[in-house]
Amino acid sequence: MPELKFISLKCHSTDDTDESDDHSVDGIIEDEPYLLADHERVWSVRRMKAGDIEDLSGVEPITFDERIGVELWDEDDRARSDDDQIGRLMVQANLIGLGELRRDFKRKNAKYTLTYKVTRALDNLFLRYDENLKGGAHAVKSDDTSRPRNRFSVGEMDMAIGLRARNRKLPVMMRQQRIFNESIKKASEPHNRDYEDNPELVEVIEKTAYDMGANLVGFTEVTPDLIYAGKEVPYRYVVVVAMRMDNEKIATAPSVNCMMDVANTHSVLGALVNRLSDKIKEMGYDAVPSPALGGAVDYPSLARMAGMGEYGRHGLLISPFNGSCQRIAAIFTNLELPVEKPNPHKWVRDFCSSCGKCIRACPPNAIREESVPTKAGHYSCVEHGECLLYLTTHFLCSVCIKECPFTTMSYDRIKEAFERGARSRAQTR
Ligand code: SF4
Ligand code: SF4
Repeated sequence: MPELKFISLKCHSTDDTDESDDHSVDGIIEDEPYLLADHERVWSVRRMKAGDIEDLSGVEPITFDERIGVELWDEDDRARSDDDQIGRLMVQANLIGLGELRRDFKRKNAKYTLTYKVTRALDNLFLRYDENLKGGAHAVKSDDTSRPRNRFSVGEMDMAIGLRARNRKLPVMMRQQRIFNESIKKASEPHNRDYEDNPELVEVIEKTAYDMGANLVGFTEVTPDLIYAGKEVPYRYVVVVAMRMDNEKIATAPSVNCMMDVANTHSVLGALVNRLSDKIKEMGYDAVPSPALGGAVDYPSLARMAGMGEYGRHGLLISPFNGSCQRIAAIFTNLELPVEKPNPHKWVRDFCSSCGKCIRACPPNAIREESVPTKAGHYSCVEHGECLLYLTTHFLCSVCIKECPFTTMSYDRIKEAFERGARSRAQTR
C-alpha cells in the first residue's frame, strides 16, 4: 500500500499580522500551524515564523489506499473556522516512487512549503518484520561472519519503470503487502517454545507443502552466518520451500511481464508459508513464516544447506526441479527437523566453471569470473551492489536466470551430458 511520509515544512511568511496579539514575540509575527491527514491532526507546532523549517521526519508514516487529503491550518486560539485553513492537497497513490515532492500552501499573508514523499509501505514492512523476529528465548543471532541484507528500494524501482507498469503492478504489490502483513502478525507473537522431537511429522509437513503448491521442500538448521547482519530468527530449525517461476515470462527478461511474474511468485509463495505455518501450529508446534521477499536469512545458502541444490555463479540456487527459475521462502520452528544430509549437487559448481553464460549476459557486468569467498566461506561471484542498482531500474532484471542453461534444459540432461563429457575427457588423456 502507498505510504505518505512528511519530510519538512518551511514557513516563508505568516498569516497573523497583528503585532500586538498572542502570535507576536518581540514584534516578530508567528503562526501555530498544524497538519491534518484524512481530517486527523498528525502534527502541530507552537510557533513558526518566516524562515523557519520544521523537520517532520518524526511524524508516523500514513498508509492509504488510492488517495489521502492533507490540510495545513493555522491555530489562532479561536474556534476553527474556514479562514484558518492555509491550504489543501490531495496525495495520490500514483506518486509512489517520484522521490521528494513539494507543495506550496498560500492564503492571505501566509506561505508555506510542505516537502513529502509517497513510498511503498513494503520498505518499512521489511524492518517491522525483522523487529518482530527478535527477542525469543531460542533466538539465533547473526555474527561477524554475517553479511548485510541488500537494500531494496521499491520507491526507486517504481520511479524507473514508468506510470503504466506501475499501475499494472499496483494490485500485485497490494496483495503482496497484505500477505506480508500477515507474516508480520504471525512473527509478532512470543516464540519461546522449547524444541520438541516428532520425526513422523516431517513427512506430513513435506507433503502438505507440496499439496499447497511448493515445487521443492527441504529442512535444515540455520547458522549465524546465514542470518543477515543485525538480524535474528526465533528458532534454529527451518523448513525451506521453493516455488518455480514461469519460464516463458522469465524468457522475456528484462520486461514488465517478467517483473510481474517475480512479484506474483513472491506473493503466492508468501501466502503458502503463512498457511503452512498455521498447519504446523495446528500440529502442536510453533512456526514463524519467513516471506519470499525480504526476510532475515540468505535463502539460496539456506536451501543449499538443506540439500535442495547448489548456487550458481549468478548467486542463485540451481535445483533439480526448478533449475535457476525459482523463489525461496522459509518457516522457523521449534519442531526438530532432520538436518544431516549430503548435498549431491556440488557438480553444478564444476559445470558453472565451464559455462559462464550469466557472466557474459549480465548487463552491468555484476557477475565476476572468480568467486569471492565470504567471511563464512560461502561462494559468491556477484557484486550485489551493482546487480541491485541495475535490477532496481530494469524491471528486476533476471537476465542471468533467463540465460542460465538450467532454466531451459532439464537438470538431469545437463548432468548426464556433463558427466559424459568428463568421462570422455578422462579417456583421451
Ligand atoms: S539480475 Fe541482472 S544485474 Fe543482477 S546479476 Fe543477474 S543479470 Fe546481472
Ligand atoms: S549461466 Fe552457467 S555459469 Fe551462470 S549460473 Fe547458470 S550454469 Fe552457472
